[in-house]
Amino acid sequence: MPDSDSKQNLDIKQNMILAGKVLVAEGQDDFTRGHISFRVPGASGLFYMKPHSVGLDEITLDNILTIDMDGKVVAGTAKRHSEVFIHSEIYKARADVHCVLHTHPTYAVALSSSGRPLRCYSQPSALFYEDVGVYTDTINLIRSAEMGAGVARALGPHRAVLLKNHGVVVTGASIAETVIGAIMLENAAQVQMIVEAAGDPAPEFPRADIEKLKHDISRPEQFAINYDYLVRRVKRREAGT
Ligand SMILES: [Zn+2]
Repeated sequence: MPDSDSKQNLDIKQNMILAGKVLVAEGQDDFTRGHISFRVPGASGLFYMKPHSVGLDEITLDNILTIDMDGKVVAGTAKRHSEVFIHSEIYKARADVHCVLHTHPTYAVALSSSGRPLRCYSQPSALFYEDVGVYTDTINLIRSAEMGAGVARALGPHRAVLLKNHGVVVTGASIAETVIGAIMLENAAQVQMIVEAAGDPAPEFPRADIEKLKHDISRPEQFAINYDYLVRRVKRREAGT
């Protein structure tokens, strides 16, 4: 851990460690794949990121990398994910984004493969109502700045982007918003896949009704309440209580 870490930066890293454990507990893991990052506060042009070769629940203060907007590691000795450019290019494109998360959740991958748009068939799906991009350039890893810029373009102004036949990228202003967003996106995709598999879905509710719910569930305190609960649950499980 660099001696220069301020209390604020240390808190961010501790929260990234907890976020990784929450994500695994919620089924967002895929071996050691998937990564989370957070923009270093201030105008540093840097972000913290989970390293390669460990699970999301194996992030530590010692293995978190500090990376610049060219994708170069400036602090830390662990191996960097080749898909770092998803993060760097989104941070360059979106000043409002402070956290970027990439995972391979089953139902969201299935939905992305169907080519169908995300529908508002459940309350969690309202969070993403007209707020999901789709990236269709490749099934392969996002291993260059150009490809990362393509993901950032597909994300556009939205909260999340489906990478076709691959996974999701979810963004947010906080770790809580981003992690809860990813869990809600997967739930939305799961319900939609069930509804569409059953066939003949009833019409969605009117736009104004969906937008009201979207507004209500988009409030930062809602993300914090739900995230804090999942953190408490992970800690209870670790303590065996
Ligand atoms: Zn991936």
